[in-house]
Amino acid sequence: MTNTVDALRRAARTRLAEHSDSPDLDAQRLLEQVLGVDHSWLVVHAHDIVDDAPRRRFDALVARRAAGEPLAYITGTVGFWTLDLGVTPDVLVPRPDTETLVEAVLDAHDSAPHQLLDLGTGSGAIALALASERPAWSITATDASAGALACAQDNATRLGLNQIEFALGRWYEAIGDKRFDIIVSNPPYIAPGDRHLAAAELKHEPHAALVAPANGLADLQRIVAGARDHLDVGGALYLEHGADQGAAVRAMLTTWSAVKTTPDLGGNERITCARLKPHSPAGRS
Ligand code: GLN
Repeated sequence: MTNTVDALRRAARTRLAEHSDSPDLDAQRLLEQVLGVDHSWLVVHAHDIVDDAPRRRFDALVARRAAGEPLAYITGTVGFWTLDLGVTPDVLVPRPDTETLVEAVLDAHDSAPHQLLDLGTGSGAIALALASERPAWSITATDASAGALACAQDNATRLGLNQIEFALGRWYEAIGDKRFDIIVSNPPYIAPGDRHLAAAELKHEPHAALVAPANGLADLQRIVAGARDHLDVGGALYLEHGADQGAAVRAMLTTWSAVKTTPDLGGNERITCARLKPHSPAGRS
């Protein structure tokens, strides 16, 4: 039979093999989505016949995935940290590497109350993961995109994580002169014209969330420069950056203390953190 659950899944896996790193998982998720079932249902009902209508819907979703659309946009959800997040094409699909940033923050700051700012929150991944682990923290999450902020807000509501305030605006423009004791950000950091941008999946993601001028460093630079006016003395800054940008980011932080770069899951330099030193009487630099 070619129209059984299992046959459809295998055919889709074959079709997706050259378009995806995880063709079997993608086929499984899309089938779950179309049939409104979970993984164990697919296993138990492997030999059931799938009707024409769901089969056509499944084919359409497989075609979108084969054309490079990220699985997360097709299903509308992605797992990040311990959470299921809703994602839309207004936001970058949260990457597992960004969990390294969440981990670094949690390792360094206990559950006592903190004021944390997440700049460019996108789907809200970082802010929501931290909120879920640190209920006593007050978190402000910003984004320059109203669509992204709506996505993050929906996630917060659905997950019942109510200690996050959302603010629309570009970097620090969203928050006035408010100060925090922790600032985190996963800003756009890919250089314009970088060869990675040709990848089919990145083409579906918001360009403004991926690419920054000055070799990908412009927004990182802006965030570091403004942090001095928005962090308490001794406050901590955590930045995600490109695998080849560790040295450039550390060079932005020469007047800070405790500068440290942490590798991501693939062993690439990915997260740099630093603490704000008190003002020197000689000036701000
Ligand atoms: N880490 C993402 C990628 O390389 C980029 C994320 C970003 O620019 N903040 O696909």
